[in-house]
Amino acid sequence: MPPGHSPGAIRRVLVFDGETDPALIKVLDQLNYRADQPRTRSIEFEQSAECPIAVIVSDAIEAPLELCRALSPVYPVILLSDEESFALRLAAAEAGISALIKRPVNPHELSEWLEYFADRACPETVSVLIVDDDWLTAELNAEVLRASGMTVRTVNDPSQALQFVEDVLPDLILMDMQMPGVDGVRLAQIIRQSRQLFSLPIIFLSAERDETRQLMARRFGGDDFIAKPVDPAKLISVVRLRADRSKSLRALIERDRLTGLYDHSRFKERLSHELERCRRTGAEISLAMIDIDHFKQVNDRFGHPTGDTIIRTLSRALTTGLRRIDIVGRYGGEEFGVILLDTGPQSARMVIDRLRQRFDRLAFDAGGRQFSVSFSAGIASSRDHMGLTELVDAADRALYEAKRGGRDRVELAGLCQNNEQTSETLRRIEARGAADCVKEALQ
Ligand code: GH3
Ligand code: MG
Ligand code: MG
Repeated sequence: MPPGHSPGAIRRVLVFDGETDPALIKVLDQLNYRADQPRTRSIEFEQSAECPIAVIVSDAIEAPLELCRALSPVYPVILLSDEESFALRLAAAEAGISALIKRPVNPHELSEWLEYFADRACPETVSVLIVDDDWLTAELNAEVLRASGMTVRTVNDPSQALQFVEDVLPDLILMDMQMPGVDGVRLAQIIRQSRQLFSLPIIFLSAERDETRQLMARRFGGDDFIAKPVDPAKLISVVRLRADRSKSLRALIERDRLTGLYDHSRFKERLSHELERCRRTGAEISLAMIDIDHFKQVNDRFGHPTGDTIIRTLSRALTTGLRRIDIVGRYGGEEFGVILLDTGPQSARMVIDRLRQRFDRLAFDAGGRQFSVSFSAGIASSRDHMGLTELVDAADRALYEAKRGGRDRVELAGLCQNNEQTSETLRRIEARGAADCVKEALQ
């Protein structure tokens, strides 16, 4: 396995369901979660093991709500139930459960809840950029936010702020309102000129008590104010609330409904952004285009809803099987794009091929009929293709080669070019006789 490409950790879920439900365990497995079934009802069992992202409690066990009540202060709890009456919902709310799922379990619903809990369990996913001309204040505030698990960058020169924003693409900007040269409100206006940054939350740090000026700052794109001197607890909670809210809103707008991945246009934007970074820093990325094989037949034979489940399963396999920094998008119907950061084409091929083999082994089920599905992939590297269209076209051509070569395989753009040249030479040898071609090659 190439360095830095440890597959996303298989996340742990605790399941209390009395009689083990194989269907549920299979769903969790396909979604890349590890289901552990503790033998005791105590939460002591947890001390040494990796912390679970959620606990699933079935109403088939004895006194399920009692167990929920004991676990809910520590973990998010999902209750599985055959009924969903108001009385049950009320009792479940009193027992502190986070989600109620009715049987038969809809894998999509379950995976959305688990994703949500997994995201919340990783507070470091909030990234903040602090813009403040006073480096000491900037560093102090940065430390406060870092201590609560956020990733923070600081910039002291307001004229460099935009470049930093475009590099870091933070979830939120914390900005001093009074800075020499450029006033914070002006800088917010400048940031808002870019469509991509239009909805990025900006919180002003300000000694400003003048409501008219605060109102003007809001009009030009400020979302909130924190008064100086800053209260650390307030700073953390305002930043987290704003960032979380903006992330969920952005997810609704920019993400594909079926899979929760970046949609086509957002994926292209990210690709263009990453290529720009490669040009500036000399870094390298690989782009993989992935397409499910014979998917039309899968739909025809097993139905559209089963097709949807397969699309979702592949989406989950890609996101959990890659590093968090890699970018996955739904490029089209049954086609996905993956941007592997700081990864050469050979490593990218190994990584995607490992995912392909894993996906091949999954058994899908439609009304008792078991079947498996494969995908083909084409990979191109920014080393050979620096332009956006050029890179996408190269990966697409490699994908086409993978399909033409029999599907269920991964092809590299450079290699298929060589293959194309080789087959062109062979074709000419056949057509004109070997001697001419050898002569031509010697010239
Ligand atoms: P190939 O191996 O060459 O890729 O063959 P294919 O059948 O996968 O390719 P084709 O492009 O002929 O068919 C793609 C199919 O994917 C057709 C379309 O109905 C289906 N599809 C696209 N989006 C969705 C979706 O969201 N859900 C489902 N269930 N099917 C979809
Ligand atoms: Mg200042
Ligand atoms: Mg296809």
